[in-house]
Amino acid sequence: MTSERPYYQPVGNEERVFKAAYAQQLPVLLKGPTGCGKTRFVEAMAHDLGRPLITVACHDDLTTADLVGRYLLRGGDTEWVDGPLTRAVRTGAICYLDEVVEARQDTTVVLHPLADHRRELPIERLGETLTAAPGFCLVVSYNPGYQSVLKDLKDSTRQRMVGIEFDYPSEEVEIGIVTAESGTSRQVAADLVRFAQAIRRLDVPGIREVSSTRVLIAAARLTEAGLPLPEAAQAAIVAPLTDDRAVGARLAELLALYL
Ligand code: ADP
Repeated sequence: MTSERPYYQPVGNEERVFKAAYAQQLPVLLKGPTGCGKTRFVEAMAHDLGRPLITVACHDDLTTADLVGRYLLRGGDTEWVDGPLTRAVRTGAICYLDEVVEARQDTTVVLHPLADHRRELPIERLGETLTAAPGFCLVVSYNPGYQSVLKDLKDSTRQRMVGIEFDYPSEEVEIGIVTAESGTSRQVAADLVRFAQAIRRLDVPGIREVSSTRVLIAAARLTEAGLPLPEAAQAAIVAPLTDDRAVGARLAELLALYL
C-alpha cells in the first residue's frame, strides 16, 4: 500500500495479538472506553495487513438488512445492493462493527456463522450463503462501561472472539499522542494529561464517561488556535463531560488547580 500508515502509538501487545488473530482468521473483540484509540488501531492494522477497512457504527435501529443488503428500486427495477458486511465478506476486507452491543441481538445473529470456523454469511433474501474471502476479518468493539447486562454480548458470541483490552495509555504515551495529534508543545500536552488523570481518579456520580485521549487532543487543538489553556480545557474537556452543576463546579476547581 502506498498511503501513509495512520498514526497509532501501541500501548501494549495489541498489535501482535491482532496480527496473530488475523493470520489464524479469528474474529477480534476490542474492549474499552470511547476515545482510547480503538478505531485508529483498526485503521493502522488494516494498513499494515494491506486490507481495505469497512467500518459500521452500530446503533439500536440497525437492521440485518443494513448490514447484509437489500433490494432497492432503481428506475422501475428492483436491484440487490450489498450491505457493508456483505461487501467485506465478498472482497476480503476487514469489517469493523463499532459499538456492536448497540445493535439488537436479532441483527447480530447473522454474525455467528461468520465468527466461527465456517466463516459463512447466509443471505436469506438471495437464498445464498457466502463463504468469506480469505482476507476477511470481523472486528467488533464495545465499551464495557456503557451497557446494561441485558444488552451485553452473548457468551456464545464472545467465546468465538479473540479479545483485546484497551484503556487510557500511560502518562508518557498519552503525552506523546496528544503532542503528535495536535501539534501542541510537550508542556501543554503534559498539563492536559495530568488534568485528565485527576478527573479519571475522581469518584463522582454524574460523569458518564471520563476524559478520553480524544478530548485532550481537542483541547490542545483549541490552544493551537489561540485559546488560553484553561478556556480550552473548560470547553473541550469539562463542558462535554457533565450536565450536573455540582459536578461541573468540582471539575472547575480541579481545572483551576491543574491549569
Ligand atoms: P475509539 O475508537 O476508542 O473511540 P479513536 O480511535 O477514535 O477512539 O481515538 C480517538 C482519538 O484519539 C484518535 O483520533 C487519535 O487522535 C487519538 N488516539 C487515541 N489513542 C491513540 C493511540 N494509541 N495512538 C494514536 N492516536 C490515538
